[in-house]
Amino acid sequence: MNYDVMIVGAGPSGAIAAYELCKNGYSVLLLDKKTFPGDKPCAGGITPKAIDLLPYDISGIFEYISDEMRLGLRYQQEIIAKTPGVMCAFSQRKNFDKFLFDKAIEQGVNFLRIKDIVDISFDSRRNIFSSLTVIREDGDRRTLSSGYLIGADGVHSKTRKIAQVFPQFRRGFALEGLLSYDDIAAVPTPGFDFDIVKFGYGWVFPKGDHANVGLYSGKAGVKLSKAALRGYSKKRLGSDNLKNITGYPIALGGANYKATHANFFLVGDAAGMTEPLLGEGIHNALKSGQMAARAIIDQEFSAKTAGELYNDYIQPIRKDLRATRIVAAVFYRNLTGLQLGYGILKFALSRRFLLAGWAAGKTLYQIITSFLGRAYYKMTIPVSLRKIYQDKKINRVLRK
Ligand SMILES: Cc1cc2nc3c(=O)[nH]c(=O)nc-3n(C[C@H](O)[C@H](O)[C@H](O)COP(=O)(O)OP(=O)(O)OC[C@H]3O[C@@H](n4cnc5c(N)ncnc54)[C@H](O)[C@@H]3O)c2cc1C
Repeated sequence: MNYDVMIVGAGPSGAIAAYELCKNGYSVLLLDKKTFPGDKPCAGGITPKAIDLLPYDISGIFEYISDEMRLGLRYQQEIIAKTPGVMCAFSQRKNFDKFLFDKAIEQGVNFLRIKDIVDISFDSRRNIFSSLTVIREDGDRRTLSSGYLIGADGVHSKTRKIAQVFPQFRRGFALEGLLSYDDIAAVPTPGFDFDIVKFGYGWVFPKGDHANVGLYSGKAGVKLSKAALRGYSKKRLGSDNLKNITGYPIALGGANYKATHANFFLVGDAAGMTEPLLGEGIHNALKSGQMAARAIIDQEFSAKTAGELYNDYIQPIRKDLRATRIVAAVFYRNLTGLQLGYGILKFALSRRFLLAGWAAGKTLYQIITSFLGRAYYKMTIPVSLRKIYQDKKINRVLRK
C-alpha cells in the first residue's frame, strides 16, 4: 500500500500531524510500537499555550486545573504565583495520548502496530526519502513507501538514528513516581522546588487520586536517584510511599534542529524540542507536528520543498528554545542566577507581567521580546477550559 504520508510514532506530535493531514485530504499511515491507551513517563502538565493549539475540546480528560503554582527555592523561600486565568491543566498521559490518537483515527488515519522500524532508504542523489522497512507484529518484514515520512518517535527516535541526522540532539533526565492521596493529608498545590537537584527542580502535580512527584535536570550526566526522589516526596508531602517510579530522558537541543531532506523531517521529542527551563515538551510536540502537516500541505503551492517550508515554520519554536536555553543557563548556573530569577518572580510587577503572558498562552520568547512594547496581555482562556473556568472548578480535583 502507498500512502501520501507515513508517520512513525503516535504520541502527541505524530497524532496531531496525522489528524491535520487527514483532515486536509491526505492518506496517512501512523505507525507505533504501542497500543493506545499506553503510558509514557510524563507529569501530564499541559499549559494554556499547548491547549490553545488543539483543534478540539479536550476538557474531559483533565483531572485538575490550577490558576496557581507554588514556587520554592531550596526549601528556604516560597512564592505562590497566581495567574489571571489558567496556569496549568493536569491529566494522565495515557488519557491525553488516547484522546489525540482517537481523534486522528476518527478523521480517517490508518494505524499499523509494529514491532520496530529497521531501515529507511533515501535517494541520496536527490536527497529524498523513498521507503521505510518495518517489522510487523507477526514478525514479517515489510517495506513501505510514501511521499513523505515524519519521524515522531520520541526521545529514543530510531528515525533520527537510522537517518543519521541532527547530531546536536541532547538529553536531560527526569524521574517520577506516583503518590496516592490515601498517603497524604490533602491534595497538594501544584509546585516546583528549584535547585534541589543540579540544573533543575523537583515538582508536585496533583491528579485525580494521586500526586505525580518528580525530579528534573536539564544537564546530561546529573544522577537522579530513587532515594533522592523519595527524600523529596517525604520532605515536601510527608510520605515517600511512591509507586511506579520511572526515569526517562528529556529531549533537548532542538534550537539547532533543521530538516535536511525535502520530504523527511523530525517533530517533537525526536527533534529535541522540549524546552530546557521547565522541561515542557508537549507544546512544541503539538506545534511542530502541526507545522510538519502545514509544510506538506503548503508545498503543493510553493516552489520550496516541504523540508524547506518546515524549517521556515519551526523558526518560532527554535527561537523560543534558544530563549529558554539562555534563561535556563542563567537561572540554573549558580545561586546568584537563581536568586536573580527568583527575584524577578518575587517582584510584583515583573511577576504579573510574566504570569499574564503565561496565562495568555505566550511563549517565553514572546513574553521577553514584548516586554517593552506591551504593558499587559489580554487574558485568554483556551476554549477547552472556558466552561471549567467559568464554573470556578479551579484548584480542585475534577475527576478521579
Ligand atoms: C518524566 C517526564 C515528565 C514530563 N512532564 C511533562 C509535562 O508535565 N508537561 C510537558 O509539556 N512535557 C513533559 N514532558 C515532556 C513530554 O513528555 C514530551 O516532550 C512529549 O511526550 C513529546 O511528545 P512526542 O509525540 O514528540 O513523543 P512521545 O510522546 O515520546 O511519543 C513517541 C511515540 O513514538 C513511539 N515510538 C518510539 N519508537 C518507535 C519505533 N521504533 N517504532 C514505532 N513507534 C515508536 C512511542 O511508542 C510513542 O508512542 C515530560 C517528560 C518526562 C520524561
